[in-house]
Amino acid sequence: MECYTTCDELRAALAQQRARGRTIGLVPTMGALHEGHLSLVDASLRECDHTVVTIFVNPTQFGPQEDYGRYPRTLEEDLAALAARGAHTVFAPSTEEMYRPGHVTFVEMQGVALPLEGQRRPGHFRGVATIVLKLFTLVLPDRAYFGQKDYQQSLVVRRLVADLNLDVQIRLCPIVRDADGLALSSRNRYLSPQERRQALLLHQALQHVASRVAGGERNCQTLLSEIEALFAAAPGVRLDYASIADPETLAPLERIEGPAVCALAAFVGTTRLIDNTLLAPPQARA
Ligand code: AMP
Repeated sequence: MECYTTCDELRAALAQQRARGRTIGLVPTMGALHEGHLSLVDASLRECDHTVVTIFVNPTQFGPQEDYGRYPRTLEEDLAALAARGAHTVFAPSTEEMYRPGHVTFVEMQGVALPLEGQRRPGHFRGVATIVLKLFTLVLPDRAYFGQKDYQQSLVVRRLVADLNLDVQIRLCPIVRDADGLALSSRNRYLSPQERRQALLLHQALQHVASRVAGGERNCQTLLSEIEALFAAAPGVRLDYASIADPETLAPLERIEGPAVCALAAFVGTTRLIDNTLLAPPQARA
């Protein structure tokens, strides 16, 4: 496995791979890798000849009050995990390498970038879209791998690709969870043992909604009220938002008559976690 820290080295190495006719898979991450990230690496290794993993804690996608400064940085462990998995190339640039002095170009998006995370974290998707576009133009991947864990991010990236005519296939991989249901996240490291138990409520609330929909409930306001009641009754956890929305546009739904996504964000202590599930009503009976 090769590890590069400069754009020039990365471009030169990948040009050689491309010249040999190898397809390139890209897995963008912020490091502190866990099995969720590694599942994206596995998917790329299955589908592409050469897998590039990027590790970059992107400052432009964090708000001023957010956790950029204390975001976990575990490069040595990350490199060992990626080498064991069989990744081919790692790109771990410095902040100065990705944002040269005088950098003033950003990608602004409307539509799917506006609600939910976009509303709660102003500027977040501007930072995400900017770094993803930069990584796409550096790596020129055939396919890029994203997790359903950040469902809205995957929609933002698909929209970016469509709007800017980028020649890359976007692959969405399922959410990897711990055995008790908690979605793996680099931010789970912030949780105390007690908070770790309290954080299970995100998944439990999603499971509750999925089982109510499977049982025939269609009214989104009813379901959202039930989520709010579950959170109101739980100590240590504060719901930031709950949404049941169209899975393509993220427009809120009144009734679940077709595919839908239920997305949650909640604070567990001071740690903000997100989770989601795709919903589909059972086939209407004849
Ligand atoms: P991050 O390092 O948090 O920016 O995440 C990098 C990529 O890993 C994103 O595409 C995430 O959606 C994905 N990811 C993070 N957690 C999980 C998970 N539990 N299961 C699947 N993919 C994940």
